[in-house]
Amino acid sequence: MTEPRQYHITTFGCQMNKADSERMAGILEGMGYLFTADPNDADLVLYNTCTIRDNAEQKVYSYLGRQAKRKHSQPNLKLIVAGCVAQQEGESLLRRVPELDLVMGPQHANRLQDLLEQVDNGSQIVATEPIHIVEDITKPRRDSTVTAWVNVIYGCNEHCTYCVVPGVRGVEQSRYPEAIYAEMEELGRQGFKEITLLGQNIDAYGRDLPGTTPEGRNKYTLTDLLYFVHDVPGIERIRFATSHPRYFTERLIKACHGLPKVCEHFHIPFQSGDNDVLKAMRRGYSHERYRRIVDKVRQYMPDASITADAIVAFPGETEAQFEKTLQLVDDIGFDLVNTAAYSPRPGTPAATWDNQLSEEVKGDRLQRLNHLVSQKAMEKSERYVGRTEAVLVEAQNQKDPSQVMGRTKGNRLTFFKGDINELLGKTVLVKITEARAFSLTGERVESLVAV
Ligand code: SF4
Repeated sequence: MTEPRQYHITTFGCQMNKADSERMAGILEGMGYLFTADPNDADLVLYNTCTIRDNAEQKVYSYLGRQAKRKHSQPNLKLIVAGCVAQQEGESLLRRVPELDLVMGPQHANRLQDLLEQVDNGSQIVATEPIHIVEDITKPRRDSTVTAWVNVIYGCNEHCTYCVVPGVRGVEQSRYPEAIYAEMEELGRQGFKEITLLGQNIDAYGRDLPGTTPEGRNKYTLTDLLYFVHDVPGIERIRFATSHPRYFTERLIKACHGLPKVCEHFHIPFQSGDNDVLKAMRRGYSHERYRRIVDKVRQYMPDASITADAIVAFPGETEAQFEKTLQLVDDIGFDLVNTAAYSPRPGTPAATWDNQLSEEVKGDRLQRLNHLVSQKAMEKSERYVGRTEAVLVEAQNQKDPSQVMGRTKGNRLTFFKGDINELLGKTVLVKITEARAFSLTGERVESLVAV
């Protein structure tokens, strides 16, 4: 009796990639593959890659090198590169790593079985042509049994001058609300408690779907979707990411305020605090508009968590312009900001500009911004001390097995003493006793939250 084949997937990058990997894992398990934690034991090794910055892209090549060597002694080993580097490099990846069997772009994730069958017939496959993403019927192998990602829109039609996403993930393709509802309903039946609706620019949800309302608005919008999926049985919490300040509406803010399951946590990248830099980035909004959005959110939900992304040392950014980014971070007081130094990406306009800044300037500005971000996050975290928060328990604390961990509705990671076998997937009241910049510690209040 032949041993079942084993697979290993390594995922780099964003939540969209994590969701794609879960679906590809589900497809492989549907084909009879078993998961192995050690890639060196696998008969099929898949790298789901990220190219958002150069260091992310470079990571995959060192991994690939090792597996390509292994293939010389194990010719039946299947080697696959998926995700954004696969889409960006395509055929040239086969020249660089001739041992590869399959190079597949993110739009082809659902087609893994069909592509692998072509590989099994002896072909080397490159699948990067733009396609209409077929509705997803796979059974993802999800990393959690409590929280799940649900894609609502693939791709992006924006043209931010630093970003590779439109070039590697293609044009916007929204899923119909009924398909999203059905996937969430199935997750509710399986015992999942929290759903994160995903899109690179989730505020664009539905604008590629036909239909307008009598008022002339798109028939399908994120706001309407939130109302449509709010009553899915079993689901206690709904989150969404990633928002775009250009399209963020008061209608959406009102909906989030009015819908109890929608968590009061908004991830709204601002990227820069200077209007000339925002113009050069082609972001389509000013720092004043960004501040008005945050004010409006806080008008309806004073305690809402606001998180963001920021890029420092964009080509041509002056010290004075960078200080406007520091000023915005200081004024708004974010719960968290993902920060990065500008990294020129293939095929993006800004990468060709001659006013690139030095690595020294990038390092200096990143360090100064990170310092301020931690300071402000600590100030924000302190608001929780002494409060009792509802925490959805997601896992045991690997560092201290006597503790469990979960997140508040504001998305704050929280640790407290508890038994994971008793509390996994439960929402527990926790009195917060200690705050750190990006996480909290507390004590369980002896009653489960009735949701
Ligand atoms: S909105 Fe801009 S930064 Fe975000 S994915 Fe689209 S092009 Fe990239």
